[in-house]
Amino acid sequence: MIHAEIISIGDELSSGQRLDTNSQWLSQQLGDLGVRVLFHTTVGDELEANVQVFQTALGRADIVIATGGLGPTADDLTREAVAGATGKELVLDEAVLGQIESRFFRQARSMPQSNRVQAMFPAGCQVIPNPHGTAPGIDVEVQRHDRGPSRLFALPGVPAEMREMWNATVEPRLGEIPGVAESVIVHRRIKCFGAGESHLEQMLPDLIRRGRQPSVGITVHKATITLRVTAAAPTREEAVEQIQPTWALIHEQLGQLVYGQEDDELQHAVAQRLRARGENVAVAECGTRGMVAQWLGNVPQQEDFFQGAVVCTPTSQGAGLFSEHGIPEFGSENSVQAMALAVREHFGTDWGLAVGEFPSREEQQQGSGEFCLALAGDRQMESRMRRFAGHPDILLERSAKQALDLLRLRLLREDAAD
Ligand code: ATP
Repeated sequence: MIHAEIISIGDELSSGQRLDTNSQWLSQQLGDLGVRVLFHTTVGDELEANVQVFQTALGRADIVIATGGLGPTADDLTREAVAGATGKELVLDEAVLGQIESRFFRQARSMPQSNRVQAMFPAGCQVIPNPHGTAPGIDVEVQRHDRGPSRLFALPGVPAEMREMWNATVEPRLGEIPGVAESVIVHRRIKCFGAGESHLEQMLPDLIRRGRQPSVGITVHKATITLRVTAAAPTREEAVEQIQPTWALIHEQLGQLVYGQEDDELQHAVAQRLRARGENVAVAECGTRGMVAQWLGNVPQQEDFFQGAVVCTPTSQGAGLFSEHGIPEFGSENSVQAMALAVREHFGTDWGLAVGEFPSREEQQQGSGEFCLALAGDRQMESRMRRFAGHPDILLERSAKQALDLLRLRLLREDAAD
């Protein structure tokens, strides 16, 4: 299988001022062509560093795609760097110069001298036309003594121009390279919640093994675990078919820990179950400060299943809503149950979901303390104490997800009982 490297050029990127979205997009495009991307390299505007980066990339990758640094200004070094790394001379392309000049002429402007450099290309390369900008791209093949040639495409950094040039010229030219588009890579994601990453790995002993086909990778983001199943095959249909048994096995092993797929979040799973049952929910939140409500409220057509929320601090105590219901000892398990009942009654919903106040700062610092989740339905009240521990940056999100998961699991049990 042939490998690719993507190079992103510019101080703006290496200094962290701008996020490199070109690499993400290009990797996805290459994946669709069955080309595995092994390296992403980001480099600032310095000639020597750029030459080094190009030399390394051409040595280790069969296809190199670079973006940025093709403009007319002194810090745009890509042309020079490619010439330096490939040992080719920069020569003026009269035809391209004519195109750049006529572009300025059409806009009734005179061409600054600096734009002349955009018509300079490493000898023997092909030009990649740029219909909506002045900077054409460079397409050059570099011979290697120990292997077949490596092919380098340098494109402008502006995402819209880069994409247009990719679609019009680079992708068709790549299709002529042996090994490209002979297979497609398909990724599918399974989303899980309710167990730690290592616990989940133990439940899937043979799947997360290097070299397995299709491969299974595991990542965790804010307590949500994603299993990524990847297959390569001559056609998309065959790759999807290859994924199927692994997909089924993961569902079988993990059962209700799996809540969705691809971009699903827990609120989507909850929304889907509530809609299927024709039921709705209202939320009362202390510790999570409205996060559960915000997530539910952002699901499209949320009015089908989400009736409203009360967000309160211990001092406001729900602006009298809960004290009307005679809630004792704010923060206790009893009081959170009473909040769930009160919010269900107030909004007239099938379900009332409540998140209690979080432990005190002292308890949190000691890594101790619990908070309560409660769920009121028409048949029974359910409540759970949850340990408040983990990385402080994700505590709020994790707690909100635990609340949604309490409802999700309950709906699954109700479905099974019906
Ligand atoms: P131009 O001729 O338009 O100047 P260029 O090839 O010189 O093209 P750069 O000057 O390097 O491109 O980048 C132009 C703009 O494109 C940057 O200011 C930035 O907004 C955007 N850009 C560059 N590289 C990336 C990237 N990797 N991801 C996202 N945006 C990028």
